[in-house]
Amino acid sequence: MYDIAIIGAGPAGASAAIFTAKAGKSTVVIDSDKGVTRRAWFENFYGIPEIDGPSLVDIGVAQLKKLGAEYVLDEATDVSAIEGGFAITTAGGASFQAKHVVLATGFSVEFGEKLGAATKPGTEPRVKTIFDVDADGRTSVPGVWAAGTAAGVSVHGIITAGDGAKVAINLISELNGDRYVDHDVIKPKG
Ligand SMILES: Cc1cc2nc3c(=O)[nH]c(=O)nc-3n(C[C@H](O)[C@H](O)[C@H](O)COP(=O)(O)OP(=O)(O)OC[C@H]3O[C@@H](n4cnc5c(N)ncnc54)[C@H](O)[C@@H]3O)c2cc1C
Repeated sequence: MYDIAIIGAGPAGASAAIFTAKAGKSTVVIDSDKGVTRRAWFENFYGIPEIDGPSLVDIGVAQLKKLGAEYVLDEATDVSAIEGGFAITTAGGASFQAKHVVLATGFSVEFGEKLGAATKPGTEPRVKTIFDVDADGRTSVPGVWAAGTAAGVSVHGIITAGDGAKVAINLISELNGDRYVDHDVIKPKG
């Protein structure tokens, strides 16, 4: 059983996976790769003067893989609660078990609704429905978190990516029983 299953690998899901995998939490990312980010052109992403959406998404997926997360290109279609976590099945017929789930499904809340996560109307342009989350990113279902557009944050790449990181840090902190920080320092030369 994985520690964490992340549904969606746009900026929110990929960023969450980068943090959870780097923290040593076994992480599977299930992604249908149909997000809005592939259509975007970014000139407002801090530290990156300009980048096209497909490149941003591809770099994010490569980065989460490099840090040890398993990436599955598939659509998560069904989910049920099992002892100690959740069982997820995909359109491609695969199944995964995870103790915790992060919903980073962009404009879609369909999969999370199957889990019973409460929703509410969105407030951002064109975002109809979002998960009802607390300040840390917890949904109404214990063990299920939401991040990014699906959690109602401003629909901008850097904000959804930051929200994915925030939710991951809160989840890691809960698992560790201690506030988590991920700070690397410049390696000494030579
Ligand atoms: C045309 C356009 C231009 C934009 N321009 C800018 C810009 O200039 N600057 C800026 O900051 N922002 C821009 N944005 C917005 C930005 O792309 C989004 O705010 C942000 O990237 C959304 O990230 P996300 O991770 O929440 O969602 P997404 O990137 O949509 O990712 C959601 C992922 O979840 C997956 N998913 C959903 N359901 C399932 C399921 N059941 N199983 C498996 N996977 C699933 C999807 O396939 C997708 O890969 C633009 C958006 C558009 C559409």
